[in-house]
Amino acid sequence: MDIDNMVQNSALVRAREGGGSKARSWRWKEMLRFPHISECRDLAKTISERDYYDLCVYQPIGKKLFHLYCMTRQELHNYILLLDALEAFETKTDEERHSFGLYIINTFIRSQGNHCVPSLTKHEQSYINSLEFDPCGDVFHKCKGFLHEYLSQEPFTQYQFSMHFDRFLQWKHLERRPITKNNFREYRLLGKGGFGEVWACQVRATGMMYACKKLEKTHIKKWQGEHMALNEKELLEEVDSRFVVNLAYAYETKHNLCMVLTMMSGGDLRFHIHNMSKNGLAMDRVYFYAAEVCCGLIHLHQKSIVYRDLKPENILLDDNGHIRISDLGLAVKLEDGDLVHGRVGTLYYMAPEVICKEEYNTSPDWWGLGCLIYEMIAGKSPFRERGERPKSSEMEKRIKSKPVEYNEKFSKDAIDICNGLLNRDPKHRLGCRGSGGKEVKSHPFFQQINFRMLEAGLVEPSFKPDPRLVYCDDVQDIEEFSALRGVALNQSDGEFYAKFNTGSVPRSWQNELIDTGCFEELNIFGPMGSRPPDLDW
Ligand code: ADP
Ligand code: MG
Ligand code: MG
Repeated sequence: MDIDNMVQNSALVRAREGGGSKARSWRWKEMLRFPHISECRDLAKTISERDYYDLCVYQPIGKKLFHLYCMTRQELHNYILLLDALEAFETKTDEERHSFGLYIINTFIRSQGNHCVPSLTKHEQSYINSLEFDPCGDVFHKCKGFLHEYLSQEPFTQYQFSMHFDRFLQWKHLERRPITKNNFREYRLLGKGGFGEVWACQVRATGMMYACKKLEKTHIKKWQGEHMALNEKELLEEVDSRFVVNLAYAYETKHNLCMVLTMMSGGDLRFHIHNMSKNGLAMDRVYFYAAEVCCGLIHLHQKSIVYRDLKPENILLDDNGHIRISDLGLAVKLEDGDLVHGRVGTLYYMAPEVICKEEYNTSPDWWGLGCLIYEMIAGKSPFRERGERPKSSEMEKRIKSKPVEYNEKFSKDAIDICNGLLNRDPKHRLGCRGSGGKEVKSHPFFQQINFRMLEAGLVEPSFKPDPRLVYCDDVQDIEEFSALRGVALNQSDGEFYAKFNTGSVPRSWQNELIDTGCFEELNIFGPMGSRPPDLDW
């Protein structure tokens, strides 16, 4: 291995390991100094639609400050403690759910409970019943609804006059500052895409690692990629799933438009299927990745997004071995249940209806999942031998009519799910028949998967990438990307860049500050209500 590559790899490995407060710039507190509250008045006006759910539930820092405010009012303590307990309930394993559920009922709902919320006592029996019936169901759904309904009235109104809300505005002010390349340290090149390079980077103020996907402005212009770039950025902004890469920042430099994304340092599935193993992946990994991709697709489809580019290269692993769907460059938003057409994707993985330029909605993604499951098991794609590069006309023919062959690694359930997903008629394809993704999840192929735990992030991957390895090509093997000569950028390009350059994505930014410990260290007010000693989970 080349020296340059070694040096860059070890710098990246150190940055990844370092993490935590050591990775922050020595000037981090200065970088995150709160503006004076008088500077936040204008901001207060722009948050004019005062939506309780957005401000106190959805935004992570907003939620923390609202809870801190409520803890200053004795009469609201039990409401907040119960909300916390309900959140903890979601992180319990199936075995723990029943006893923790009873604990919640005994502590907060029974009239003799230490932290009883009086208006809930009349429903005690119905909570006990639904807990007994199915501890893994949404046992406390009504209870959550009631708490939010209550808190969104007078407590939410009063909160907006509190120092906690002022503090929220100060955080929002920091969040909305323009982002430039100076916010980041840059590590090694990770990969190359159609419009530019992807680099490992780290936020100076917090130490958080990300991947920065750069799109070269001249290349975008030359190939008229403006719509595509903006589409990818806007869709990424909208998604919020542990199974899809998240967008944290969008900004511009002189030469590039940049999307700062969840860092996925475990390599892509193509690499794991073809370079790390010979005859496909071990079956426990196949079930696990297929299930996580399935959840990612369901999330996208819930947002009316068709992904259209499912293939092993676009499924990335993180440090822990969980996967996320990445590269939403070809994804499209369906408006009002519309159908789309358009022959996009990678031919090897294209569904027959896409090849034939028919209209479709989410069906190509389920075909894609069929191809992916097949390839993970067989170590080759269903319509192409390893290393083979058939002509497009031949590929199209095979996709439209060649029977899929299964080797001895395929169980009966594996054959059945592949046949279901690779049904050439989208109307009869698994995943496209009314109940959508639900039907896929309940296929016997997934019988070992506990989807509730998987969606809560409670399932440990059986394979963990080696933290000392860098799972990508050597730096010198990734082709360089440079500005094109003779492409002039002008006023109208500037308007498009401005649309792209929106800075921090609120939810990601707030999570970054919380996850790196910066929020905790900076959000000081003096003595506050804390959790009573008799509650401990
Ligand atoms: P394009 O849309 O141009 O194909 P991609 O989004 O696929 O670009 O990114 C190109 C390459 O960069 C990927 O193949 C992968 O190697 C790397 N890459 C992309 N996103 C990430 C990420 N979030 N973490 C780590 N590497 C990434
Ligand atoms: Mg790609
Ligand atoms: Mg792309």
